[in-house]
Order: sequence, then structure tokens, then C-alpha cells
Amino acid sequence: MICYQSTRDKQGETISFADALLKGLASDGGLFIPTTLPTIPLSQLSSAQSIAELGSIVLQAWLEDEFSAEALTSIISDALNFPTPIIKLAEDLWVLELFHGPTLSFKDYGARTMARLMEHVLKARGERRIILVATSGDTGSAVADGFAGMDNISVKLLYPKGKVSPVQERQLITERPGVQAFAVEGTFDDCQRLVKEAFVDPKLADLPLSSANSINIGRLLPQSLYYLWAVVNTKLEHPVFCVPSGNLGNLTAGVLASLTTLDIPRFIAAHNANHFFPDFLSAKVPAYSFHKTIATLSNAMDVGSPSNFERLYTMLDSHKLREWVWGTSVDDKMTTTHMKRVYDSYGYVACPHTAVGFEGVARYRANTGDTTPVITLACAHPAKFPETVAAALNIEPPTEPRLDALLHGKVNAIDIAPTLDDLRPYLAA
Ligand SMILES: *Cc1c(COP(=O)(O)O)cnc(C)c1O
Repeated sequence: MICYQSTRDKQGETISFADALLKGLASDGGLFIPTTLPTIPLSQLSSAQSIAELGSIVLQAWLEDEFSAEALTSIISDALNFPTPIIKLAEDLWVLELFHGPTLSFKDYGARTMARLMEHVLKARGERRIILVATSGDTGSAVADGFAGMDNISVKLLYPKGKVSPVQERQLITERPGVQAFAVEGTFDDCQRLVKEAFVDPKLADLPLSSANSINIGRLLPQSLYYLWAVVNTKLEHPVFCVPSGNLGNLTAGVLASLTTLDIPRFIAAHNANHFFPDFLSAKVPAYSFHKTIATLSNAMDVGSPSNFERLYTMLDSHKLREWVWGTSVDDKMTTTHMKRVYDSYGYVACPHTAVGFEGVARYRANTGDTTPVITLACAHPAKFPETVAAALNIEPPTEPRLDALLHGKVNAIDIAPTLDDLRPYLAA
């Protein structure tokens, strides 16, 4: 059986996947990592007709001791019920589009699968959970949507009132079964503080509170699937992957896909102005030299202290990471410049995050001379960033019918002051 251990564990204590999934963070503050890895030959996946079919095989290899094959097949086909197209822009440049889920970012893969895995475990144990999450962007809407309608799970979502974009706000407060959004009079930091306070509040000690942030191992396994799907579909043998990165969850998922199956020769970690990881990779700074978060146009990657660094650093080490991952930090000006370049060259409209990736590919090639084909991850739909994209490309703002549908649905948010006294009654209800 594949067990999981905290990155900070010194005693060799291991727990099951189901327990790691429900706990999220280890009690010592570390992140869960697998103690052994399955081997999943690519040949077993090559005839898969859909990412769900591929996912069922891969998740069985990871989880067969804890979930039945039927359960995994039904979980993954229900979770990944949307397309994952791969677009060839040139012989050596491909885009893996990860924004065709309900909330139009790659966060849907992790959130939808994790919700269904959790629901399955909770039903079997006769337990329930209240997911409490503070959000400023894509994670919140993906979690709200992914966990909506689960019988044993409800979601309480906190966001800073007036501090998220209008499109993001609509996505967060759209009415969904089992989900309640709270518009907090304060900043994102106030929302995070409220969540932390709630978890240690004696008056709430009886509530089964849980979290669903990007450090949960239950989000990483499903995210590894699209790397495998991309290789099966392009038939590229050992492509380089370019991963627009913030908290480094996506990159960690790619590393898992490589270790179990792919032998990816190189990853490009394309960061925005938040430069810790590229600096670490080029040995400019030691591990954990985090900095304050810098706000940019690619706001879902605005992370000064990426939590998944601890996972990567523990699973690999400085030497292996620096050899395997090539990093770069792209400012806003180069982001929009490259957005325009990709549009002019290929007619392709990229969101700001994806544009950081494209600029990363160009720099990687110029710096290393490597001509291996690159698959770059397209993280969000450009219609989520209409103003930025329209201004950079000098075109009408991009639209997307699913987003328009959201903009006309019913909404529901409760205004609260940034105090636990205000929030508490709603949690207990
Ligand atoms: C979350 C997110 C990222 C960053 O991914 P990490 O796993 O945090 O590195 C990049 N782009 C978009 C659109 C995102 O939502």
C-alpha cells in the first residue's frame, strides 16, 4: 500500500491516502508526500480514449488499496467530464488547454476530483466536513463549484469584499447547493486570519472543520493526469513541459507524473515577478528565502512563499531540482508583450498566466539552445481577464458562453465584519 508521510516527519510515521486527504496539512505543519511511488508504464495508458479513462487506470495504481476500481472510475469520470484539448501551434510548440472546466482554470481538475474522493471516504465513514476556505481567486471558485452538491460536505467561502475582479466575484457568489459565500469587509489577509482563528476557536471545537487549499495531496494526483494525457495525445516521446507557476502545485504534479511514468527531461517553471523559485534554481538564494508577495497581472501566481516548495525540496533535493527544473521570472511588461507576440505569430489568445509561460519557453530556448518540443500549460481562459487581454492585443475583450451564463445566474453572499464573532454563528448553523 502507498503511504503518506509529512515532509517534516522524523519518526517515520505514515498514514493512508484517505487520512492524508481529510487532514490536508500534517499536524507538525508539514505536507504529505508519498513514501513509495507506483510504476505506471505509458503503454498501459496509450489506448485511453479520454482523460477520465486514463485517470481511472492511473488512480487505481495509486489508490487500489483504499478505493475499488468501480468507485475510482465513477469518481474520475464524474469529475473530469469536460474536454482537455491540446493545440499544436508549431512543430515544436504545443498548448495543453486546462481551462474547459466549469470555472475555467486548471484548478477544476484538482478541486472536482478531490471533492468526490472526500465525499466517498466520508460516506464510508459516516462522517461530514465543513470546508472553510479563504480565497482571492481561482481556487475559491473551483472549490465552491467542485464541492457543490456533495451530501457530506458543505463549503464556507471567505473573500475580501471589493478586492477581487468583477468576473471573479460573480464566480464566487453564484448560488450553489451546500456553498455559502461571505464578503468580508477587509483584505485577503483578514480572510486567512479568520480561517486560522476558526480552526483553533474553542467555541467551534465540535465542528468538523476542514480545509481544501492547494497543499492537499488529493489535488496533486488528479493534476498529474493531464501531463500523461498530453504525452499520450501528442505522441511526443520526451517533451519539455512549461508550467506557469505560483504555489508550485502544478509543477509538483508534473514531477509525480514524470517519476511514475514519463521521464520528462526538463521542466520550465515560469513565474511572474514573484521570483523566489527562479532565484533558488539559479542558486542566487538558498532554499526557503521567501519574500513578500508582489501583485501582478497574472494574479493567480502571486505567491512569494510557495507552499509546495517544501514538497519538491523534500522529494528531490537542491541538486536534482536545479538540474531538472529551469526557472525564470517574467514581469508584467514582458507578459503583455509576449501575449501580443503569440497572438501575432499564431493567432492564439493567451491569458496572462499562460503568456508568462510562453515568454518562459522563449527564454529557455534562447538560454539553453535546447530544441526539444515544448508543451506549455494554458492555465486559465482568457475571458477571465477581459481587460488585460483586450488592452494587450488591442482586440474586443474575449468572451466565453459558460462565463456569460454565470453572470446571469442567482447570487448569494453574506456581508460580515472581519471578526470571528461575526462569522461564528454562520459556521455553527
Ligand atoms: C493557481 C494558478 C496558477 C499557479 O499554479 P500553482 O499550482 O499554484 O503553481 C497559474 N495560473 C492559474 C490561472 C492558476 O489559477
